[in-house]
Amino acid sequence: MGDELIETIIKEIEDNIEKAVGVGETGLDFHHTKDLEGRRRQEKIFKLFIELASEYELPLIIHARDGEKQAFKILKEHPLEDVIFHCYSGSLNTAKNIIEEGYYLSFSTMICFIDHHQRLIKDLPLQSILTETDSPYLSPFKGKRNEPLFVEEAVKKIAQLKNTSIQEVDRTTEKNAKKIFKI
Ligand SMILES: [Zn+2]
Repeated sequence: MGDELIETIIKEIEDNIEKAVGVGETGLDFHHTKDLEGRRRQEKIFKLFIELASEYELPLIIHARDGEKQAFKILKEHPLEDVIFHCYSGSLNTAKNIIEEGYYLSFSTMICFIDHHQRLIKDLPLQSILTETDSPYLSPFKGKRNEPLFVEEAVKKIAQLKNTSIQEVDRTTEKNAKKIFKI
């Protein structure tokens, strides 16, 4: 992505900012980018979107893959009011640091079939959690395209793992989302 293209994208967002309830996804994908130069470039662009969210007082939705710790480090230097780490797949330690800062973690339907995510959810408070599907990827049903409707499966699984009711997970995650997005 050239700098000019980034500028165009940011301008486009600013021109339509009154329609926005958040800024994102943006962040660091170190899973696909291994070279240092590429990673530094992602960090530079990430900071531009942090500035944008800060300027318009909007929540920032972060995509961080193998870069959760680094994304959090950058946020420590440029703190924001509301931040969601979408489709969180990082370590428990980084998750705890994120939550301590008052930020949120969003768990996708991956929670239905990945041990790591299931272990994470057991140790994290519902008050800091959101649910999503990241459809059409990460379907809870093998061989089937993921749909927004299947968010129900993530909610059910979280309730089971945390030994609480589906209603409780539903109510708390919805309350979290409404608070963050002011909807
Ligand atoms: Zn993403």
